Amino acid sequence: MLDQGRIDALRAEPVAAQGHLIDGAVVAASDGQVMDTTSPIDGQGLTTLARGTTEDMDRAVAAARAAFADGRWSRQPPAARKAVLLKWAELIEAEALALAVLGVRENGTEIGMAFKAEAGSAAGTIRYYAEAIDKRYGEIAPTADNVLGLVHHEPVGVVGAIVPWNFPLMIGAWKLAPALAAGNSVVLKPAETASLTLLRVAGLALEAGLPPGVLNVVTGEGPVVGEAMGLSMGVDVLAFTGSGGTGRRLLGYAARSNLKRCYLELGGKSPNVVFADAPDLGLAAKVSAAGIFRNSGQVCVAASRLLVEDSIHDAFVEALCKAADGFTVGDPLSLDTQIGAVHSERQLAQNLRFVQQAEEEGAQRLCGGARILTETGGTYMAPTVIAGVKPEANLAQNEVFGPVLAVTSFKSEEEAVALANGTDYGLSSGVWTGDLSRAHRMIRAIRAGVVHVNTYGGSDLTVPLGGVGQSGNGSDKSLHAMAKYENLKTAWIQL
Ligand code: NAD
Repeated sequence: MLDQGRIDALRAEPVAAQGHLIDGAVVAASDGQVMDTTSPIDGQGLTTLARGTTEDMDRAVAAARAAFADGRWSRQPPAARKAVLLKWAELIEAEALALAVLGVRENGTEIGMAFKAEAGSAAGTIRYYAEAIDKRYGEIAPTADNVLGLVHHEPVGVVGAIVPWNFPLMIGAWKLAPALAAGNSVVLKPAETASLTLLRVAGLALEAGLPPGVLNVVTGEGPVVGEAMGLSMGVDVLAFTGSGGTGRRLLGYAARSNLKRCYLELGGKSPNVVFADAPDLGLAAKVSAAGIFRNSGQVCVAASRLLVEDSIHDAFVEALCKAADGFTVGDPLSLDTQIGAVHSERQLAQNLRFVQQAEEEGAQRLCGGARILTETGGTYMAPTVIAGVKPEANLAQNEVFGPVLAVTSFKSEEEAVALANGTDYGLSSGVWTGDLSRAHRMIRAIRAGVVHVNTYGGSDLTVPLGGVGQSGNGSDKSLHAMAKYENLKTAWIQL
């Protein structure tokens, strides 16, 4: 049970100036530069981070390479690696509330969600992959009698992880945990505006017994330290979550350097298709509203396009607007709040531009659409529903990453499929129907990494999360994710 008094005490704590974590030590940027971090809750400064340089990134990669080469982690017995990761998860859980509050002060996510989806989820992810370490086997190939074919899973070496600001701990753990479990060393580059919790969690890894140099964190600007990581000859795999534009750059860096593997988890414009035969339209409206508006729509899998059957359009949209208006938007550290802050002034301005353009193009704003709570100094926006959005409109085709829902109606299943698949993205999706055959037809027809049926947004660690098309490649979560951080080596033995 979360306690408001404890949250308020934690939010009042000053946040110390931060350095990088390289080779087990906290260090300043090579040129001593820092950058300010601002809280979206009230627009006030929080602390400073080291503004990393190319030299800092090169040092971190060198530390990770040295750690990998001498086997201080990669050649530890599986049971020993498992024990360290389990201890790490325990330390994170013990600090879960403090981590959640710190993260909310930096990125504006509502505390209830941050507590579960950030620190709690990170600990769970680390535990999941820790448990996998001594339960996965190599393979013996089905060869002829006179040979033996063995398939070894080997760590790739140094993994470079670059993560965004919306769920830094959850997404960070999705990369760090399988990469470390597989025996790799890692260099992590958090988002400029969400570095604090990852720095703290990396410190806890050292306390848990992870040897120095195995996990390094370099803060700073993407185009400087992120580019240096992408171009580094010492990084074997890049694991990235963020925007498509940055993903393209990473592929370019890989091509210009050592052809490192790049796994990209990118954005989405996920369709949520509601048929008139859905078993519970009231529930569908509520879940659909939560599917786009929670965390102010700053969720890669947000249900940002509602495709609704013509015959129920008006009633459904009315129920959805009622649900949207019912959310309490405000101070993300208040337990009464359901939707916290938009992450930044830049993000808020972008959200409002999308709304304005859609209206200029003739779509109808049914609710929201404006900045609110300006007296707080923070960045807040009312949940926004825009109906009559044409399939080719900017709002239907491009990710807002904000609390803005685009509604389009359809008349037939075929039309629904064509609309659902009518963008360059393919991350998540939803289908609401009481017809089992239709549900399975839709699962097959929708081009996406995830199809929810009669729900939206649920999942756990046992299933992969990844996109197709311009939503990316490779998946986070589940045992499948381990393959991203391993090489397969064949041994062919003549008997
Ligand atoms: P972003 O691409 O701007 O930044 C992501 C990370 O890349 C940050 O750490 C940033 O510093 C770094 N970066 C920026 N420029 C770089 C460069 N030139 N070289 C190397 N690194 C660079 O994205 P964002 O605004 O932080 O995050 C929002 C985006 O992330 C949205 O598109 C969202 O859909 C996507 N996202 C996807 C998933 C998923 O699982 N598919 C999850 C969360 C967010």
